[in-house]
Amino acid sequence: MLSFQPTPPLDTVPAPPLHFADRTHQMVPSETRALFSMAAREDVVSLAGGMPSPEALPAQALREVLQEVFDAEGASALQYGSAQGDPVLREQICQVMAAEGIGATPDEVLVTVGSQQALDLVTRVFVNPGDTVVTEGPTYVTALSTFAAHQARVVEVAMDRDGVVPQALADTFALLAAEGRPATFFYTVPTFHNPTGRVLGADRRAEVLEICRRAGVLLVEDNPYGLLHFGERPHRALCADAPDGVVYLGSFSKTLAPGLRVGWVRAPRAVTAKLVLAAESAMLSHSKLAQRAVSRFLDTRSWQGHLDVARSLYRGRRDAMLEELAATMPDGVSWTVPAGGFFVWLTLPAGLDARAMMPRAVDGGVAYVPGTGFHTRGGGRNVRLSYSYPTAGQVREGVRRLSDVIRDEAAG
Ligand code: PMP
Repeated sequence: MLSFQPTPPLDTVPAPPLHFADRTHQMVPSETRALFSMAAREDVVSLAGGMPSPEALPAQALREVLQEVFDAEGASALQYGSAQGDPVLREQICQVMAAEGIGATPDEVLVTVGSQQALDLVTRVFVNPGDTVVTEGPTYVTALSTFAAHQARVVEVAMDRDGVVPQALADTFALLAAEGRPATFFYTVPTFHNPTGRVLGADRRAEVLEICRRAGVLLVEDNPYGLLHFGERPHRALCADAPDGVVYLGSFSKTLAPGLRVGWVRAPRAVTAKLVLAAESAMLSHSKLAQRAVSRFLDTRSWQGHLDVARSLYRGRRDAMLEELAATMPDGVSWTVPAGGFFVWLTLPAGLDARAMMPRAVDGGVAYVPGTGFHTRGGGRNVRLSYSYPTAGQVREGVRRLSDVIRDEAAG
């Protein structure tokens, strides 16, 4: 028998259930982001976030540059642009890469929303769910989020003071191949690594390239800090010596301003073609205004002068951090000595746990990022300290507070 069902009023019908895609199950909040609010307390010196110093952001020059862009280009600066990015800027990006030995052409370059988007697009075009990505252990925390979002399996390779250990890399590739799950790519931050500040040694660079080449594994070189060196010369990029086997990620976030969100990827042409298609579906085109601003800045202002100011600023803060660490840290604590970039990687005495110590550190007026966030597992005794944002005086105060916290923690 048919029963008559009255249609319920629409406002009583529940909202659709939320069936999130499988890939979202691995999306978890980044430890660093969660710490930003804690670290924002006025009484806390934050050595946590790796943000550029406000003094290194050329606000006045960019204000003028934007005015000049509008004067010269009018409304066209507000139009859609090509998915691959502004052709003039791509030419200039090739000149920027030349400083680290890379001989690239504009058709190999795609402009992206920071190098973070470049990493996402590269992962999107190469990684199927379950594929294996090999990284340094530890590695950049948000790269791990990107790989998780694409359902990759991440395998870490040990580092020592000269960067990734070549034999360990070769062994990992061999093991993965033997398992029938070969590495899709090796993601590395070879210069002023985030989080350790280390540099892949000059001798090791050729060795790592050779290991990847022989294993048939693409290398993804992420290099946002390379030009922020405190010594004389920039390091030669891995990409410079094996352009057909390396996808290179660059960024103006640390060398100009992260808020512009201008980065790029340089890859062999066949890869760039795929990346452009992926970019088109992700964002249609990058902000033309931001690209024109960066382009005009590079064209009409002294970028070298700006970089020199940034280098000496960060070098002063790095020195302040290292001096204070040496003066105050208790026995059993060790740390890296970065020659550029933003980070120092600290190892706590055996038995201490950086994550468990964090609330007491915040009570003691200092914040850092526990090492666990930079590993798929482990890293509990490590702490990432950044000297880029606080002033030298704040850096010293933060380190003094941290050594007090560690001393108390070690005393139980
Ligand atoms: N890679 C590394 C190693 C980083 O440290 C960062 C920023 N912290 C990025 C990529 C992303 O930078 P952006 O998207 O601002 O270029």
